[in-house]
Amino acid sequence: MIEAGTTDSAVEVLFPPDVIAARIGELCQEIAAAGLRNPLVVPILTGSFVFSADLLRGLHAAGLTPEVDFLTLSSYRHTTRSAGSVDILRDMELDVADRDVLLVDDILDTGRTLAYAKDLVAARGARRLLTCVLLNKRVRRVVTIEADFIAFECPPVFVVGYGMDLANRYRELPFVGRVASD
Ligand code: 5GP
Ligand code: MG
Repeated sequence: MIEAGTTDSAVEVLFPPDVIAARIGELCQEIAAAGLRNPLVVPILTGSFVFSADLLRGLHAAGLTPEVDFLTLSSYRHTTRSAGSVDILRDMELDVADRDVLLVDDILDTGRTLAYAKDLVAARGARRLLTCVLLNKRVRRVVTIEADFIAFECPPVFVVGYGMDLANRYRELPFVGRVASD
């Protein structure tokens, strides 16, 4: 299925909206079963903002009452290649010491971003630290790390939509897709 018209280039749908919604419902049951105490959900911005919004509403439906704070880390910066280093662009505001924290990211790719965020929150004294990603690109890992909760395994292609961009475009698409020219 190819979705055209909303963007300059056609984007091939990999994960449609209904499939994403159903999987997030399951994921929230898994997260609820983990028994987090007064959880603090930390979306890693910017790419995870749509996923996190749906995940948070799913967590509410699953009976959780999380607090939320945001951590903005650098990512590809207008290129489809990973920069190799991670910077804090905007730090969290809440104290994570002795808190149960759920880090949320869009894609686990080389692993550098999530590993950096985990180290940061662990060094600040989190009591329990769990991670959740929408997409896992398992074959591209350069850092040894796995997420605790994964919505989907993803092929090693550059994806956009559902919050994820290519040079700040395509974030508004309601599905995860692959740019046809990739
Ligand atoms: P890692 O540090 O694991 O290599 O990369 C993780 C971050 O890179 C993700 O949070 C995401 O922001 C970005 N990223 C990795 N793969 C893709 C992709 O296929 N599309 C987009 N838009 N971003 C990606
Ligand atoms: Mg990201």
